[in-house]
Amino acid sequence: MREDVNEKCAVVGIFGHQEASKLAYFSLHALQHRGQEAAGISSSDGVKLHTIKKRGLVMRVFDEAKLKTLSGSSAIGHTRYSTAGDDSILDAQPVFARYDLGEMAIVHNGNLTNADEVRKALIKKGAIFQTYMDTENLIHLIAKSEKAKLIDRIIDAVHRIEGAFSLVFLSRTKMFAMRDRHGFRPLSLGRLPSGGYIVASETCAFDLVGATYIRDVEPGELLIFEKDKEPISIKVFEPTPKHCIFEYVYFARPDSSVFGQSVYQTRKNMGKELAHVSPVEADLVIPVPDGGVPSAIGYAQESGIPYEMGIMRNHYIGRTFIEPTQEMRDLKVKMKLSPMIDIIKGKRVIVIDDSIVRGTTSRRIIRMLKEAGASEVHMRVSSPPTTDPCFYGVDTPDKEHLIAANKTIDEICKYIEADSLAYLDEASLLRSVNATKDNYCTACFTGKYIV
Ligand code: AMP
Repeated sequence: MREDVNEKCAVVGIFGHQEASKLAYFSLHALQHRGQEAAGISSSDGVKLHTIKKRGLVMRVFDEAKLKTLSGSSAIGHTRYSTAGDDSILDAQPVFARYDLGEMAIVHNGNLTNADEVRKALIKKGAIFQTYMDTENLIHLIAKSEKAKLIDRIIDAVHRIEGAFSLVFLSRTKMFAMRDRHGFRPLSLGRLPSGGYIVASETCAFDLVGATYIRDVEPGELLIFEKDKEPISIKVFEPTPKHCIFEYVYFARPDSSVFGQSVYQTRKNMGKELAHVSPVEADLVIPVPDGGVPSAIGYAQESGIPYEMGIMRNHYIGRTFIEPTQEMRDLKVKMKLSPMIDIIKGKRVIVIDDSIVRGTTSRRIIRMLKEAGASEVHMRVSSPPTTDPCFYGVDTPDKEHLIAANKTIDEICKYIEADSLAYLDEASLLRSVNATKDNYCTACFTGKYIV
């Protein structure tokens, strides 16, 4: 069974606004970087839920006419990421269901670590599943709960699941937002200019719709939104924060604040730390766009070495299908990233990227820079070696495909054909994100899994 279906997603919820689905749509735009495979919105007009979901980018899935059909003053939305090949429309979210209490829709960011066990147990008892999504477990758990009220059924259901979940539920009259006890994935609460509320994976969605940030939904907290009431908070689990440090390294947008801190600032700090721990004589610091930009700025400022845009990124490349020959593969990289020959030629360059996963990107970029005439290419990575896969919602390949799990740093340096290679160490990374206690999950760098 596939286990990789709820990764790298974004969720949003709008409550108490005449054009809730429009605001959800704009928010999903801002969150598009968290998933490009499919998008969906469910709205409630108080009597009925309406859902539209489809494969493709937010802009392609919705238009004015479709949004009009998503009527009502509350809406939840989702953008989905999945690995190539998972193309079932059934696996798009929101997950909608009719059950004995009426109608509900759910959106989910994260990965449930006991999804298979729960699913098998449900199937044994006669449940029929339509999708491969972890989220469908929740629908069944809620529908089968003995409790009378939805709120109690949700609490029942989240006690049966483990792992990472930032969830938003929509019923005909209420909205609920919930984060797992570790707060692996982000979820923030904001106020809309007109007085309603928004919850979203990242605050860049707030900025787009003019909402003001109130606070994060706490790890283990359930928020209930009801008409003409302040949100009610229930502490479902004792919080034991283990925020995903990779949100800062790669995932979140730099203009967002996640886990209460500016992503841009933490990324810049990583670059500054990197300049301290692995200095090298060079003429230029250049980022691998877009991920490496803030840390390259930090590295340049700290080292005094000039920052330049040495690589241009074409933003209009979707999935490319040209693969068969090496020549075509090289062309494909150049379609996305091209060297600024005049800037690079004859120069010793420091290239900064946020992470090396398989190593293929770095190898191609370094070759490209050398072909463009760089005299030396020093690779600096603003996070520690990615040695272990993530089970909490980040799309990482199996250990056998993680280059740092299988090669030493020297061997990686040779493989990517760099003149030198250095990574940020764990302590410096933790300093960059102002970790005060043991409140971050670093399993992708350490293999220390919490759940
Ligand atoms: P690779 O060629 O596998 O080493 O890919 C490294 C590149 O992928 C870096 O430029 C990262 O910014 C980017 N990256 C890191 N993590 C992810 C992820 N979970 N999904 C997609 N891209 C990623």
